[in-house]
Amino acid sequence: MRNREDRLRGIMDTVLDGIVAFNDEGIIEGFNPAASRISGYSAGEVMGRPVALLLPELDGDGIERAMRAGRARSDHSHETVGRRKDGGSFPVDIAISALTRGTRRGFIGSFRDLTARKAADEALRRSEERYALVAEAANDGLLDWDIEAGTVYFSPRWPVLLGMQPDELRPTPDEWFKRIHADDFARVSADIDAHLAGETAHFESEYRIHHGDGGWRWVISRGMAVRRPDGSPTRMVASLSDVTARKEAEQRVIHNATHDTLTGLPNRTLLFDRIERTQAARAGRPRGALMVIDVDRFKVANESLGHSIGDQLLVTMARRLPKSLEAGDTLARLSADEFAVLLVEVDGDEAARAVAERLRRRIARPIEVGGETVVLSASIGVVLVPPGKLRPADLLRDANLAMYQAKLDGGDRVRLFSEELRQRSAFLLRSENELRRGIETGRLSVHYQPLVSLQDGHLATGFEALARLVLPSGDMLSPNDFIPVAEQTGLIVPLGLKVLQQACDQLRAWHTDYGTHLTLAVNLSPRQLEDPEIVKAVARVLEQGGHSGFRLKLEITEGALINNPEVAAIQLAAIRALGVQICIDDFGTGHSSLAYLHRFPIDVLKIDKFFIGRMAERPRDFELVRGIVGLGHNLGVSVVAEGVETKEQADILSGFGCEYGQGYLFGRPMSAGATTEWLARQRNRPVPAPVH
Ligand code: C2E
Ligand code: MG
Ligand code: MG
Repeated sequence: MRNREDRLRGIMDTVLDGIVAFNDEGIIEGFNPAASRISGYSAGEVMGRPVALLLPELDGDGIERAMRAGRARSDHSHETVGRRKDGGSFPVDIAISALTRGTRRGFIGSFRDLTARKAADEALRRSEERYALVAEAANDGLLDWDIEAGTVYFSPRWPVLLGMQPDELRPTPDEWFKRIHADDFARVSADIDAHLAGETAHFESEYRIHHGDGGWRWVISRGMAVRRPDGSPTRMVASLSDVTARKEAEQRVIHNATHDTLTGLPNRTLLFDRIERTQAARAGRPRGALMVIDVDRFKVANESLGHSIGDQLLVTMARRLPKSLEAGDTLARLSADEFAVLLVEVDGDEAARAVAERLRRRIARPIEVGGETVVLSASIGVVLVPPGKLRPADLLRDANLAMYQAKLDGGDRVRLFSEELRQRSAFLLRSENELRRGIETGRLSVHYQPLVSLQDGHLATGFEALARLVLPSGDMLSPNDFIPVAEQTGLIVPLGLKVLQQACDQLRAWHTDYGTHLTLAVNLSPRQLEDPEIVKAVARVLEQGGHSGFRLKLEITEGALINNPEVAAIQLAAIRALGVQICIDDFGTGHSSLAYLHRFPIDVLKIDKFFIGRMAERPRDFELVRGIVGLGHNLGVSVVAEGVETKEQADILSGFGCEYGQGYLFGRPMSAGATTEWLARQRNRPVPAPVH
């Protein structure tokens, strides 16, 4: 018996639950150390006192109530409130068993402090609640994929995000997968597989997913697998967040950095990138080609029509040009009026030229803008992308060179880059010295192009002196190649005087030999007109050898008048006082011309060959030429048409009453020797009257 009691006490002392023994009247008869720890009472303090002190539920007939409720069974615990010595209460789980000791009934209550568990439960409940709230309130859709059952629960946000009705979504993973963009699917499923295989700590993937409106949304999915102890996945939870706005903003930034804002076309950066890619991809395939397209006289259109119309013209071009291109080709905008085209596959020079010609014709189609019809033209330079490595910037330089040549040849045309062009440009690069030497060593020569009377059987009335530079190689450089350099370096002043001198000497000789009253037209550049010495220099040339019957005309461009009108007016008046006539060259290409005409002493208007060339085909140019001729006559000046190449043009001009013509139809610029022969052939014809 004693032994048994000892053993019982041993157990009571070591168990973690509080144990209290009490009799029928609820008086405590036993109390173990765990009960002391939980309640704060020592055994001595509670022995002989009512158990209700500790467990208020067991007061008065509380014990009976508990028994009746069937609670006094050791396998049946319930939750109640316990009270500690310090007066504080705590949640308690209690089980009561009744024992009979002889005639007396007794009870054993075992109880457990639930405070810690309660706190844990509360935390769990709170977090579950939070999770539910988050799931509901977050913008994210959630899915819970039971991998074994092959079913998926989609949260209500999921279909909302994808623009679907909730009942459209069957609970299968396919409802997720089948909407993923084909280009992204492989990546997403690889991301999922890697995570399910335990290779990644989280699943995360960014992809496009189909939306109910027919479009695509950029989304991010993040998720995690739930695994068995052996690591094999049983479930996967994943979210769906719409990141379209962010993605679009990112793409916009990238787009803006690589595209032109006005036209939306790729810019230089992207063009270079594409050139490099074409070069990399081109092994064994046909060569590509790069073109530079520069709108002719765009500045003039922009300034006379206004910048907003100028912009519209560029946008129209940007829309039109791709129609002549293949899918993989790139149209880029390089600067204000300069575009570039990269053809990825083109079979040689002629194929590239054909595309360029198509583009040129497309550009020439009239554009209706702001109630006006505008006709643009462009100069196009083409370079084939050669095998081997050539940096995009170098290719562009070559295409630019060809474009520049097209421009110098009069614009509205296509030029292919060639080695010869490169050599010439190399010449231009070191041209100041070359030019200086050319002038000094007499390699400068003058060619003469006849001017004829349109009203009088096309008889020669004079010549225009056109400068030529002969290279050591024997090649002859066009003035378009070296006059701009001469202008820039100031060499134009000695060069211009040399041309004047040489041409005057020549005219004197012809006058003596042929006795004709020829006129001589010499070009005077803007820079020369500003030169304070120019009047004296012209006077000196005229005096040398005596004035022998020919009439000198100096041709200046409108640009020379516009740059510095005050100086121009004074200089022109002084030159005119020497008996020299003033001719406005290339008339019609600078739009402010009309306003200037009455301010300057002018004798001749020379209509630019650009208009003459287009007059027969384009009613606008036809009217323009007619208008200029009429205007000239009203102002009392004579009119020369430049660049007359066909009989039809000559007839139209003579119909307008235009007095003089110059152009390949009548004679090309010729060397002095060839001109002498030409004059000899004309000799038997009647002597034409001089201009004025
Ligand atoms: P420009 O004064 O307008 O000269 C007319 C240009 O048109 C010449 O080009 C001439 O060869 C070309 N031309 C003549 N008839 C026709 C034709 O029927 N069709 C076509 N398509 N073209 C024709 P060039 O000789 O190349 O001279 C170009 C420009 O260089 C000249 O234009 C002139 O502005 C400038 N230039 C020439 N010599 C001198 C010079 O001694 N001093 C200055 N400052 N400039 C010069
Ligand atoms: Mg001229
Ligand atoms: Mg001209």
